[in-house]
Amino acid sequence: MNTTPHHLRNHLSKAEAFKQLIKETFSRRVISFYRYVILPDPLALRNELYAEWQGLGVLGRVYLSTEGINAQISVPEPNFGRFQELLFARRAFAGVPFKVGVEQKNDAFWKLTVKVRKQIVADGLAPHEYDVTNVGTHLSAREWNELASDSDTVMVDMRNNDESTIGHFEGALTPDAKTFKEELPLAKAMLAGKEEKKVLLYCTGGIRCEKASAYLKHHGFKNVYQLHGGIIDYKHQVEREGLESKFKGKNFVFDHRLSERITEDVLGQCFNCGTACDDYTNCNNVDCNRLFIQCAPCRETLENFCSAECREKVTVRA
Ligand SMILES: [Zn+2]
Ligand SMILES: [Zn+2]
Repeated sequence: MNTTPHHLRNHLSKAEAFKQLIKETFSRRVISFYRYVILPDPLALRNELYAEWQGLGVLGRVYLSTEGINAQISVPEPNFGRFQELLFARRAFAGVPFKVGVEQKNDAFWKLTVKVRKQIVADGLAPHEYDVTNVGTHLSAREWNELASDSDTVMVDMRNNDESTIGHFEGALTPDAKTFKEELPLAKAMLAGKEEKKVLLYCTGGIRCEKASAYLKHHGFKNVYQLHGGIIDYKHQVEREGLESKFKGKNFVFDHRLSERITEDVLGQCFNCGTACDDYTNCNNVDCNRLFIQCAPCRETLENFCSAECREKVTVRA
């Protein structure tokens, strides 16, 4: 049973929502932010934020839990000042830094969902396995590039395998994990014996590395660093300061765009023919729904299905 009040939920279909988005005469700012902060009553806060943001035309995906907030949203440019003012007026979120999306597209999100979860980043750890107040040192893009070329350094991609396949930092270890839960023990195992080295961690926007760095420090790694603001902020700093991008390929993102290009390097391979490709798609068969990389010729031949079998046993998406 859904106990959320009727007016505090989305009621538009995707098609209706896109129709409205196209008619908008203002631009939207695509931002993300997170903060680990104790939120005693996330459900009450959820309803407050939903009402407030719905009134401002905010769209996107937001998670709340007693451990904090994680938000990916688009805000109408004319309402941005008001949005920020109201957000910062809450003590828990005062001054929270925003990361601006690499690509600014008005249709990045089509509805607003604010969900309460057990954790903002599911880690599968016991509370005593890390201390969120003892995290890795944050590095700017410039500092990151300097340490990355240090021979005493080992770099680990803390994202899952789908994400690292189409883009990662040169020389990074990319644990073959489906989830962050799997990734933590895997990363620790790959780093065994390197406790004295400088360990550099990165993820999309930084939220996972807060936990990952705390976890590794708890497990005896002495010099743990994390990329401040993740790949998203790294890209902006690289452009602003004219640095070399040591991240190659695409940054995987969690909205319908699926990825943002960082450099022209193509790191992935077509699932069907193996040719160099980094375009993700979901299998057209809704019962399969596999997320996979498919090149344009294979997409045409297989009509956006992952295999001939899927095309035959078809339940096509609406
Ligand atoms: Zn192909
Ligand atoms: Zn399929």
